Amino acid sequence: MQTLLEEILEKGKEKIPYGKTADYIPELGRADKNRLGICIFTRDGKQYRAGDTSTRFTIQSISKVINLAAALERCGFEHVFSKVGMEPSGEAFNSLVELDLTSSYPFNPMINSGAIAVASFLEPIMDFEEMLEFARNLCQDPGITLDEAVCQSEMSHASRNRAIAYLLESKGIIESDVEKSLQLYIKLCSLSVTAQSLANLGLVLACGGTHPVTGERLLSSHVVQVIKTIMLTCGMYDGSGTSAVLVGLPAKSGVGGGILSLADRKMGIGIYGPALDKKGNSIAGQEMLRLLSEKLHLHLFAEESRPPA
Ligand code: GLN
Repeated sequence: MQTLLEEILEKGKEKIPYGKTADYIPELGRADKNRLGICIFTRDGKQYRAGDTSTRFTIQSISKVINLAAALERCGFEHVFSKVGMEPSGEAFNSLVELDLTSSYPFNPMINSGAIAVASFLEPIMDFEEMLEFARNLCQDPGITLDEAVCQSEMSHASRNRAIAYLLESKGIIESDVEKSLQLYIKLCSLSVTAQSLANLGLVLACGGTHPVTGERLLSSHVVQVIKTIMLTCGMYDGSGTSAVLVGLPAKSGVGGGILSLADRKMGIGIYGPALDKKGNSIAGQEMLRLLSEKLHLHLFAEESRPPA
């Protein structure tokens, strides 16, 4: 496995020149685009790492998974999905077109509009400190903190997300103060994680919500089932369909360069590679995930992974 990861890392590096770091806020543009790392934590407690797996970067959209997990646990399935859909949007993550023209609800919780709505359900019942503890627990990473510089930068370049938040408010979807909800959403995007934190989170999801090493139940199994399905159909923005076909694993990306993924019942996968493609997904990260899935026959529908009929 270690040799395979090293090989995959080298192959991934070939894609870096074709991507670029996020530039919608100055802080993210400063990341070193040549960084790349992949980390795997397996159900039986083994850990494999190659490349930059302990470099801290901001979680960005991967926080939408944590946001949704908290809301499903604390507000319940009916409440969350009464105001947010479960459909892939086919639009960019920060789009407001489909929200305004074709739907009264955000398409799903993995795009900005859906995640801001979800944050507004949580804002009255969970403060940021509690959310931070929740994230640290799920990732088994006490080192997760708020990256103040990124948070400030996001706050002062939030026109688009603010427009989404106010549009949601006009449709009666926001359940708390609109500015406070936006602030919670942005703070959650600004949590600093590593590829290892993401592998740990992936492992918890792969194991139905229980950490296989500590035995602790962190999420209910139904919540995990919902999250994994939405990650598979919506986790890679408007690249989700392609990823489902080529990789075939639940995955969630962030513009900080992270990818959270998992092979169900087997392993959690954490990736860092801040050079992004045009859709905002790590360009080398996606290639590494595709290769990993191919080499280990991890695709959900891989013929090789089926027991004989
Ligand atoms: N902070 C980013 C935003 O709200 C997160 C989006 C992303 O990672 N795609 O625009």
